[in-house]
Amino acid sequence: MFTQEQPRLRNWINGEFTNPVSATTDSPTTAYLPVTSPYNGKVIGHVPISTSLDVTQAVGAAHAAFPAWSSRTIKDRAAILLRFHALLTKHADQLADMVVLEHGKNKAEALASVLKGQETVEYALSLPQVVQGKMLEVSRGISCCDTRVPLGVVASVVPFNFPVMVPMWTLPIAIAMGNTMVLKPSEKVPFTMCKIVELLKEAGLPDGVVNLVHGTADAVNALIDHPDVKAVTFVGTSHIAEMVSQRCHRLNKRVLALGGAKNHMISAPDCSVEMTSTDVVNSYSGCSGQRCMAATVLLTIGHQQELVDKIVAKSESLKPGSKAGEVGPVIDQASVDKITRYINEAEASGAKILVDGRPWTKAHHEGYWVGPTVILHTNKADAALHDEIFGPVLSILAVQSAEEALAIENANPYGNAACIYTSSGATADHFIKRFSAGMCGVNIGVAVPREPFSFGGWNKSRFGSHCDITGDGGVEFFSLRRKVTTKWVPQENASWMS
Ligand code: NAD
Repeated sequence: MFTQEQPRLRNWINGEFTNPVSATTDSPTTAYLPVTSPYNGKVIGHVPISTSLDVTQAVGAAHAAFPAWSSRTIKDRAAILLRFHALLTKHADQLADMVVLEHGKNKAEALASVLKGQETVEYALSLPQVVQGKMLEVSRGISCCDTRVPLGVVASVVPFNFPVMVPMWTLPIAIAMGNTMVLKPSEKVPFTMCKIVELLKEAGLPDGVVNLVHGTADAVNALIDHPDVKAVTFVGTSHIAEMVSQRCHRLNKRVLALGGAKNHMISAPDCSVEMTSTDVVNSYSGCSGQRCMAATVLLTIGHQQELVDKIVAKSESLKPGSKAGEVGPVIDQASVDKITRYINEAEASGAKILVDGRPWTKAHHEGYWVGPTVILHTNKADAALHDEIFGPVLSILAVQSAEEALAIENANPYGNAACIYTSSGATADHFIKRFSAGMCGVNIGVAVPREPFSFGGWNKSRFGSHCDITGDGGVEFFSLRRKVTTKWVPQENASWMS
């Protein structure tokens, strides 16, 4: 049963909310998934599991909108994004509330994520200045110019952990460059993007330029397979990112698929204990550890008791809740079970649980809670040290030397982020040059590059294109280069010139 409080969501196609095709027949067959609020586990709505028929409808709308949209000037397209930017500012608080409700972030984190998404809109506003073509006389009388051309319909598939920010990594740059888009939100957090598309329409975006199709794997596969979809971006777990990338490659389709992460922090003996302890706790427990940039392994060079004690004390002081500084729930029960399993297994293999988040699960009768957890490992083989857990869990391991720390970091198959804590520039330089990660921090555990620097990891944190997803990487991904070489007959002898 669907009520006002538990709305049944619809796709957004050609500028209006549209029932899934299978719901509009005489005998509707659409399947829906419940969406729950992580704070209390209560159902807040139902999201349709769209089929290839819905994807065909959405791609058809995007395809039809492409000729008019791509033939506008980039300045004209950016002007619409400028109005969208103002609407994001006006509605930031409301959007943040929606993120809190459907995702479980605390309000400050939710607001920060909306504002971070808005930064990519700002970058897209600069594109008229940034993407001017190059022109050069390459031989006498012959000039060559290089311009950028949009691809056509592009698809964007996004994860649950940032309902606004991750869609904003692709949408503003893709459409500013003249593409049209079909976006598939995460079925776990489908609400906020429904508001965003309304704001795009209010800003003056023509119908069909951005469309939303809700759903799961079937919708993603139908998007990849659709012949009118020219490029696919994906953000999610590495396993699915790799599958998406391979499926696109088989169709010779442009793809950028960002995957999961296991990010390391290394504390040198000369680090500032106060600053490092605060930063480490923010990194692993912020957003309840559900960030691909969260650093969840701390390798201390030698035993650094004072640092560990401060991390423990600061972790123990964290409280559950939705206010700034409080730690929210994780996304669902499956996540609680997974996180708890890693803590149990580490404990069974001899690790010390210095801060135990498991009692939060028992203390909350509703919702999906695991508190900040700090594990001191002695066994290097513990799975918690190697796998992406995606919860507020920090693994600490004392190593003998810089070489041992780097060997552990380099051996991890992911490559999103790594951080060195030190008060020496030379030490920082030594580690930064040797880390096996695309986004590195010096005394910053969540080293997210802000615009115009672009976002992207290495190794199993990225499949498909070499491009980063934002900044100049996004421009490169969402456009083709067209070179025009021109020669004119010399006019010096034309009679009318004399
Ligand atoms: P997920 O892989 O479960 O889902 C991501 C998207 O893929 C969703 O839209 C989902 O509906 C869709 N999907 C699910 N199964 C699919 C299938 N079999 N085929 C095709 N599509 C499918 O990821 P999640 O749990 O929503 O998000 C968390 C993950 O995302 C973590 O691993 C995190 O590290 C990663 N992430 C990475 C980055 C990055 O920049 N590298 C950023 C954010 C999140």
